[in-house]
Amino acid sequence: MPTPSSSFDAIVTGTGPGGASVARELARAGARVLMLEAGGAAPLAGTLTQMARMAAVPGKGAFLHRDLSLLVRALTTGGTSTINFATSAPPPATMFARHGIDLAPALAAWRAELPMAPLPDDLVGPMATRITAGARAHGLAWRKLDKMIRPSACRTGCWRCVYGCPFGAKWTARELVDDACAHGARLVADGHVTRVLVEDGLAVGVEARVGGRMETFRAGRVVLAAGGIGSPRILRASGLLEGPAPFFSDPVVAVMGTVDGIEGGGAEVPMAAGFYDPEAGISLADLTLPRPMYQAFAAQAGRIDRLLAHDRTLTIMVKIRDAIRGDVGPRWVDKTLAPEDRRRLAAGITTARGVLAAAGARHVFASHHFAAHPGGTVRIGEALDADLATRTPGLYVCDASVIPEPWGLPPTLTLLCLGWRLGRRLAQVSASREASSSA
Ligand SMILES: Cc1cc2nc3c(=O)[nH]c(=O)nc-3n(C[C@H](O)[C@H](O)[C@H](O)COP(=O)(O)OP(=O)(O)OC[C@H]3O[C@@H](n4cnc5c(N)ncnc54)[C@H](O)[C@@H]3O)c2cc1C
Repeated sequence: MPTPSSSFDAIVTGTGPGGASVARELARAGARVLMLEAGGAAPLAGTLTQMARMAAVPGKGAFLHRDLSLLVRALTTGGTSTINFATSAPPPATMFARHGIDLAPALAAWRAELPMAPLPDDLVGPMATRITAGARAHGLAWRKLDKMIRPSACRTGCWRCVYGCPFGAKWTARELVDDACAHGARLVADGHVTRVLVEDGLAVGVEARVGGRMETFRAGRVVLAAGGIGSPRILRASGLLEGPAPFFSDPVVAVMGTVDGIEGGGAEVPMAAGFYDPEAGISLADLTLPRPMYQAFAAQAGRIDRLLAHDRTLTIMVKIRDAIRGDVGPRWVDKTLAPEDRRRLAAGITTARGVLAAAGARHVFASHHFAAHPGGTVRIGEALDADLATRTPGLYVCDASVIPEPWGLPPTLTLLCLGWRLGRRLAQVSASREASSSA
């Protein structure tokens, strides 16, 4: 029998950018907030081992599709932001306007609060610089990308962004979790939410496995923010989602080629600069990854001859906006590419090859596709209204699941904006209820 725990104004399940931002806004407004997070809260060490525990355990952080492509997320406090590449892009205003949502005030607030700017030249690595020169020679409008990085704490010759920056240089949603706790919120790490509790048609709390024990937690509001895979799973286990949960994942291919003139390279901030073609739904960027990850790509592509060339090999990421299809099951996730997705990837790979040739690269090869942006599983306009409310009163969703259309962009800043907006709206509703009950 689950043990009942104390009651809260709001429960937020999951502490990635979507959940942490809602929790922080609610806590700042004085609400009693509980954050239930399936992952741990150990400090980020910037090691391969810690990253692998968060994001490479099969069936937890890493999912192999039928077509042998890999989908990755991170189960830890701060969610996938802990291991991401820290690139920020504003929410697509036209897409959200189609759904009656204006994220401009939220965007202005985050721009004022968070680090979000191109890297200074001294933090742009030699590989990104060489790729930029190749891209421009190839005729592309390649430009520096906005990074959620504090240059004063960042360092050259480092590849730890994707392992979990231990220097406080890369922003992660853990900062919002800490801020929420400083405003009185409670964080329960290793707290895996299994289902939403519904009584008389209203969401009244959740059931969670905490340290091997089932517990129930009650609240006036429940916000699911377990990510593009986690939230539809919780909804389905609660009997609140029928039918399949197709998704987008923004598939990526890494295109690699070896150059002369760079010695001891391979440790720099990834995605320092790039190019985005919104019409085609294709983006390209430099993607210098740690040696073990590069070697995994080379081995997977059967290029054993390139295994020792990490410090001289330029990598370009080709990312596409893919169709929403496939399904998220209780223990598996699966989707295959649509013919249009394949065409997009092929077009991007051809452009990347052109850039690498212009940069003087040889031995060019491409990885199998993989993905890191699962979303669109509980979409605004279908399962949710413009306030991110489900059809069950008191139950909301706020993470990459809610993105209403095929995507192809860095999602983090959009999710922060949606979380800011939802947190403020829920806080306003609570405040006006209190005012009317005390009147
Ligand atoms: C390698 C890599 C690079 C990336 N680079 C970028 C980038 O440069 N820019 C960008 O914008 N995006 C990037 N992304 C993607 C971005 O980080 C994610 O899209 C974003 O973090 C999604 O936020 P979210 O809140 O939807 O989910 P998540 O960040 O995944 O958070 C979900 C949270 O819910 C928790 N959870 C899951 N299930 C449960 C449950 N049942 N109970 C309780 N908690 C649960 C998880 O542990 C996690 O903390 C990258 C991703 C990867 C993997």
